[in-house]
Amino acid sequence: MKEFKGIAASDGIAIASAFRLTEPDLSFKKRSITDASDEIKRLYAAIDVSKDELLTIQQRTLEDLGSSEAEVFKAHGAILSDPELLNRIKSTIEKEKVNAEYALTKVTDGYIKIFNSMTDNEYIRQRSSDIRDVTKRVLSHLLRVPLVDPALIHHKVIIIAHDLTPSDTAQFVPSYVLGIVSDMGGRTSHSAIMSRSLEIPAVVGFKGRLADIKNGDTVIVDGSTGNVIVNPTEAQTDEYTQKQADYRQRKSKLADFKHQMTSSSDGKHPIIAANIGTLDDLDGAIENGAEGIGLFRTEFLYMDSNHLPTEDEQFNVYKTVLQKMDKKPVIIRTADIGGDKDLPYLDVPKEANPFLGYRAIRMSLDKPDIFRTQVRALLRASSFGNLSVMFPMITTINELKKAKNIFNQERIKLIREKVRVKPVKIGIMVEVPAAAILADQFANEVDFMSIGTNDLIQYIMAADRGNRMVSYLYQPYNPAVLRMIKHIIDACHDNNLPAYMCGEMAGDQTAIPILVGMGLNEFSMSASSILKSRALIKRLDSREMVTLANKAVTMASASEEVTAFVHQATNNVQWIYK
Ligand code: PEP
Ligand code: MG
Repeated sequence: MKEFKGIAASDGIAIASAFRLTEPDLSFKKRSITDASDEIKRLYAAIDVSKDELLTIQQRTLEDLGSSEAEVFKAHGAILSDPELLNRIKSTIEKEKVNAEYALTKVTDGYIKIFNSMTDNEYIRQRSSDIRDVTKRVLSHLLRVPLVDPALIHHKVIIIAHDLTPSDTAQFVPSYVLGIVSDMGGRTSHSAIMSRSLEIPAVVGFKGRLADIKNGDTVIVDGSTGNVIVNPTEAQTDEYTQKQADYRQRKSKLADFKHQMTSSSDGKHPIIAANIGTLDDLDGAIENGAEGIGLFRTEFLYMDSNHLPTEDEQFNVYKTVLQKMDKKPVIIRTADIGGDKDLPYLDVPKEANPFLGYRAIRMSLDKPDIFRTQVRALLRASSFGNLSVMFPMITTINELKKAKNIFNQERIKLIREKVRVKPVKIGIMVEVPAAAILADQFANEVDFMSIGTNDLIQYIMAADRGNRMVSYLYQPYNPAVLRMIKHIIDACHDNNLPAYMCGEMAGDQTAIPILVGMGLNEFSMSASSILKSRALIKRLDSREMVTLANKAVTMASASEEVTAFVHQATNNVQWIYK
């Protein structure tokens, strides 16, 4: 038995066997060969197994995740049947007398290079990322190094990973992936956020301490405390099985709050909305009684696809969200690509500091064709519900003006094309300190602001949100952060604008009392946090919380003092739903 403590990232308790998700070592050496026909046989055998494997993955993905996800694997299968590609690899083996691994990589690298240089043909460039994936698969069979496909997991497991990209997480089927344990990441890394949306218990930030866990070990994950136990004793298994039952019971009690309007004990009505990343998250939001969507992270549409989603593909998704939310307010954020949200098919150079780099609105303004396609899809969807649009990572007023300009140009074009568009409220994410400081000036240009604390905290504290080494500095309750938040909320209210928050702090049980005191109008959070937050707010008197918030920003100089103030001010509140 071994116990580990990590960062609690997604509530709930899971017990199952370990499944290591590791990046395979596909390195090889160039070899001279004497018998080309043997090498070609080896190549074709690897291709045949890869094709069979792709068919299985395609079938399973279709059943578990849907047809658009399955399309990718169909495309991969088609590449492996392309006679021109196969002939080139074959003739490289014959002419150069080299091993199949080398010939395969040489030919596919050539294709990738040519495709990447065709910058004006998006379809062709997308093919290059498919070729890269297919090459990896065939190589894995040539080298006999198994490739792990998250979509192929078909028994109940706890994933043990060094790092998880959001697209890995997106492939998990929650009925099989019961828990997640990973070396990297903090509570606000995007894979942690996705695990909360999928309601998969997760603990992150182990910094390499998981190396000893083997496939098949029994693992307990407590996503509420950050405890992970490997090969537990019988007594521990019993204890956590009981905790799991208690957790489920508490969750079912919260269902009483599903159809209630959010209200403080003295009758203030902030809205509790949900953050979503995909259409799959929408059911969870509705199931948990969201009063709106406060953040739709549309970049996941781009990341879940092997090509830039077309205007129609996007339109259909936005329309579905608006229709399903049935006139409730929906805020859709334009794509926030970059940072830890990479798009393999968009050929963007690697950066030393991606979180300070080419990201979000910066990329949208630099690639206006991609941005305009999204804006048109949004505008066309506007007539199907109550839509607001916001721009991520706005830093300067000039950027906002440029984005609004493009938005208005597309609106006018659509109206001329006789397409029905409804008025759309425009807002910004306030997540860069420069924008936060000038919030009063931004107020003249927008209809609302939504505070993105996940990024705002990392930029105020200069501590990467996903870096475990500096996670002690990632402090949501630091008075510097709280003052900045109050400044933004006050600037909104002074200018008669509503102030929203869609960073993870909006669903944080310690932060909520302070935010109620600051008069935040909308709390947007992972669906799994909605009901417990509604239960908490119901027990708070907003007037007492005003006093608490003022005390926190004027008298505290450290996070710990703020936490103490909150507990003092809420000691008559039953924290039974934590
Ligand atoms: C934020 O930064 O708080 C936010 C909601 O955006 P994201 O987590 O997608 O960066
Ligand atoms: Mg952000």
